[in-house]
Amino acid sequence: MKIALIAHDNKKADMVAFVSKRLDFFNRDGLSIVATGTTGSHVQHAGIRNVECVASGPMGGDAEIAAMVTRNEIDLVIFFRDPLGKHAHDVDISMLMRVCDVHDCPLATNYKSAHIAVKYFKRKNE
Ligand code: PGA
Repeated sequence: MKIALIAHDNKKADMVAFVSKRLDFFNRDGLSIVATGTTGSHVQHAGIRNVECVASGPMGGDAEIAAMVTRNEIDLVIFFRDPLGKHAHDVDISMLMRVCDVHDCPLATNYKSAHIAVKYFKRKNE
């Protein structure tokens, strides 16, 4: 199973809080994590061991994760996006969300929906 983690700058603290509370889940055997560059280093510092970091979001990292979704390599995308900000890579962000819909890949864009998704996968794999 593979989970993608992405958080915009104003949401990185939320992502760190989210994974920190669920380290056992994110470090479990058989689960791999991929993250955009800066989010990846934050979650590594928070204690997630095996994180594959792709490029930073503005440098194409969202597009890299979208390509993985297209190949059905991702089981869940947790994307804490900032709904109040404008981003240089808005087109990539929209593209990633569209590709998740095209490929029916679960996409959690806020803390509570991510909580529900993780709870589901936790139970499913027990
Ligand atoms: P980052 O990218 O994790 O490298 O900050 C996230 C984004 O802005 O999409």
